[in-house]
Amino acid sequence: MPEGDTVHRTAGRLREALAGRMLTGCDLRVPRYATVDLSGSLVDDVVARGKHILIRVGPRGADGGTARPVSVHSHLKMEGRWDVYRAGERWRRPAHTARAVLRVDGAEAVGFSLGALDVVARADEDDAVGPLGPDLLGPDWDPARAAANLATDPTRPVGLALLDQRLLAGIGNEYRSELCFLRGVLPQTPVSQAGDLRAWADLAHRLLLVNRDSVRRTTTGVDRDGARTWVYDRGRRPCRRCGTPIRVGRLGEPISGVDAERTVWWCPTCQR
Ligand SMILES: [Zn+2]
Repeated sequence: MPEGDTVHRTAGRLREALAGRMLTGCDLRVPRYATVDLSGSLVDDVVARGKHILIRVGPRGADGGTARPVSVHSHLKMEGRWDVYRAGERWRRPAHTARAVLRVDGAEAVGFSLGALDVVARADEDDAVGPLGPDLLGPDWDPARAAANLATDPTRPVGLALLDQRLLAGIGNEYRSELCFLRGVLPQTPVSQAGDLRAWADLAHRLLLVNRDSVRRTTTGVDRDGARTWVYDRGRRPCRRCGTPIRVGRLGEPISGVDAERTVWWCPTCQR
């Protein structure tokens, strides 16, 4: 599941392939944007903001392209991904799931099953992304502010607050379960009783940072199949620390801007 680390890594791959290069082809397979053609425009940069990706394009180059700077805004949600291919290389995903194809000389970037795809004026990026707290992997990362944001609703379960991208940006369902285990706190615990919120923010930052450049995410420090998480996706299996069967349940109300990621895992012995 794409979380902040996946999104930042994806943006890095796209930046490497596209930034500083002229688009030679543009195919946006969304009815609203079917006639938008950014060919002839230079790609300025590709950035990740929380779980959003912004491909900054334009203005036009010598051969045409967009008249004003725009950003291709996408969100990976549950199933989305961007792949980069050499020209003519066979796609690794079904073509009918492709939502965006951006070509440069010798390569193409293809966005599959994207949860959101918009083309917005560069000046409107903030509106497209929506209100975001400090980005765990961004240049604006600010643990004190993230902790203060988490504290704003003291009665809310900590397992829900962690998913709220308005408080801090980048945590998805896997990290929230793992963070709660590593802090020894049940996800249902109110924020006010979850202990030192700055320590939560710092731990989240460390976990995403160590995984930003790795292909397979691990929160246990072990990179081996079946050994990469403490509790996430391990329902009814023995806790790695104490042997108690891991519990799986649901937590949550829909949170604005967050997917319906409501399944949560915990150890009833290690977490209080
Ligand atoms: Zn345990």
